[in-house]
Amino acid sequence: MARGKNFENSTVMRILVVEDEPRLLRNLAKALREGGYAVDTAEAGDDGLFKAESYNYDAIVLDVLLPGLDGWQVLERLRQQKQTPVLMLTARDAFKDRVRGLDTGADDYLVKPFDLAELLARLRALIRRSAGQARPHIELGEVTIDPRARCVTRAGEPVALTAREYSILEYLALHRGEVVTRTALYEHLFDERDDTLSNLVDVHVFSIRKKLGHDLIATRRGQGYCIDS
Ligand code: CA
Repeated sequence: MARGKNFENSTVMRILVVEDEPRLLRNLAKALREGGYAVDTAEAGDDGLFKAESYNYDAIVLDVLLPGLDGWQVLERLRQQKQTPVLMLTARDAFKDRVRGLDTGADDYLVKPFDLAELLARLRALIRRSAGQARPHIELGEVTIDPRARCVTRAGEPVALTAREYSILEYLALHRGEVVTRTALYEHLFDERDDTLSNLVDVHVFSIRKKLGHDLIATRRGQGYCIDS
């Protein structure tokens, strides 16, 4: 059976964009949202670092020249804790910058001015690479999740999930055996503009249970959700 359209479009991933030029930041955020990503933004290095440390983004777009901490300093401090994929935006196409970036742990570069379509393509590749390294198939009884293709089967049959249902399921599966709070799911799935939507998590979980079986995801009253290991 062909993979459903939902899966091809299921790109609800959360991206952080750190860029101090307001117009570029706006354009980037708009292009990424249109590309199906949830987008958080920061206009200064320290705010960007704070957000990058506070949430588990699927990728970060990081400008080099920033007020406060510059992009290299942000990257250096972030790498002491996390391996979030980072795409650097640099105004200088200097060899020195590239070497420095490799040492500091950047995953890719784009030299300004760049094409938005190219940025989206590079970002997709970056996320795919990092997902591919870290995520083999996940087996949950008769339910199998393929994180690379973002598709799910139940007893071998493909099941069509919406992008957000898929993201919730994958997140719970990656944290199997742990209780995942609604807040954690909410932070993973929705960007900071969506603060009225947290109750939707319950609706999505209800729908996932209908499609994949009621026992798959347990509710821990007052705490959150759990997929047992
Ligand atoms: Ca800048």
